[in-house]
Amino acid sequence: MTMVPPRPKPAAFLDRDGVLNIDVGYAHRPEQITWVTGAAQAVRRLNHAGFHVFVVTNQSGVARGMFGEDQVRSLHGWMAGELAALGARIDDFRYCPFLPDAPLPAYRKDSGWRKPGPGMLLDLMRHWPVVREGSFLVGDHLRDIAAAEAAGIPGHLFGGGDLDAFVKDILARRGGVGSP
Ligand SMILES: [Mg+2]
Repeated sequence: MTMVPPRPKPAAFLDRDGVLNIDVGYAHRPEQITWVTGAAQAVRRLNHAGFHVFVVTNQSGVARGMFGEDQVRSLHGWMAGELAALGARIDDFRYCPFLPDAPLPAYRKDSGWRKPGPGMLLDLMRHWPVVREGSFLVGDHLRDIAAAEAAGIPGHLFGGGDLDAFVKDILARRGGVGSP
């Protein structure tokens, strides 16, 4: 079998809580996940439009001792599976478990991965053939937008509603790759 390396293409970086799923605060179990309207359709649209689709999420609940990294990873596996069943592919996930004033010493760190730092985006750009031109982020907080700008790409602030309509509008306005 020949392994075909992924081709260079732009990336859509999606925040998790408040973008893909309703932000209930420190979700770490599948039963706490309510998908935002149009979430799977938005991911599928981005897949078909020729984007890598990545999730970048601050998970300070780990540093706060509320849940473990194993639970974060297992939840992400579950989310990827749910989306895959709807024909929507998340190519990769990054999460930041650190917090500068964390109760747990092991996670007490002023990490560049924690948004507004760009670390998670830059790490994905190192591991995948990402074309920066045309790439963008969708987040629901200003720290998400700041992380995008620090990584050299635009950020779009999602205020709720239909994520697919929101993404469709971004693609329509930017033209070029992925425009309808
Ligand atoms: Mg969020």
